[in-house]
Amino acid sequence: MPTKLGQNFLRDEKVLKKIIAAADLKADDFVIEIGPGEGVLTEELAKRAGKVIAIEVDEVLSKLLRNKFSNKKNVEIINEDILKINFSELATSYKLQAIGYKIVANLPYYITSPIIRLFLEADCPPREMILMVQKEVAERIVAGLGKMSILAVSVQYYAHPEMLFTVSKNAFFPVPEVDSAIIRVTHIVNRVSQNKEDVKDFFRVVRAGFSAKRKMLVNNLSSSFHLDKKEVEEKIKKIPLSGKVRAQELSVEEWKKLTKLFG
Ligand code: SAM
Repeated sequence: MPTKLGQNFLRDEKVLKKIIAAADLKADDFVIEIGPGEGVLTEELAKRAGKVIAIEVDEVLSKLLRNKFSNKKNVEIINEDILKINFSELATSYKLQAIGYKIVANLPYYITSPIIRLFLEADCPPREMILMVQKEVAERIVAGLGKMSILAVSVQYYAHPEMLFTVSKNAFFPVPEVDSAIIRVTHIVNRVSQNKEDVKDFFRVVRAGFSAKRKMLVNNLSSSFHLDKKEVEEKIKKIPLSGKVRAQELSVEEWKKLTKLFG
């Protein structure tokens, strides 16, 4: 049974060491951790980074964490829901735009996509994210041509995600139903440099392309944009794309070209 708030705590020292090695922290790094839980990862982050802000929604755990880190000056516990927090305010008060920051987190899986979206679309995005997510979700995020999805396109539009290693469900207590994986997300583009209308158009075209799962791109675009199939076929030839191609076979660059034609 899934635990409330995705509370599966890491119990495996080796996995912890691998996450910390992947985070490659320096003494002046500013780290944001989402869902610190009992603070196993927080403790290791605090030994290496200059500052750790850990955001935990659970009040009981937050109190426990405040006690645990009461004499650690570089750790701050914020008892809030990550999806409700005013992140731009937090970013401004810590001058994150100027100093930069990393996210290192063992995410609550029930809100993986909204959390990733929140940080990729933030006005002040992180320099890098090291994230534990459900293994299947990790595979979908880093997928290549033929296995693309809206999730893969959304992440790869903003950044470069890579799979680092998988983690057995037995590394946690209580043991969850699914295995996990650590991904690293780098080269995150700063949204401020993007035209908001272009971004909107891009995702409108992507959603239209993926609208019916197994259908060909031509059919999805023609029904979403109320265009004649032949007309759509002629347009996508310019990219060039075959009339038989399906949405999962397109690269981010091809979606960008499609946006110019249909956006
Ligand atoms: N980092 C810990 C570890 O590795 O053992 C705990 C990870 S556990 C998978 C996810 C944590 O996220 C839990 O502590 C849970 O209470 C917290 N959490 C769940 N929903 C949250 C939310 N909306 N905002 C902040 N934290 C949340």
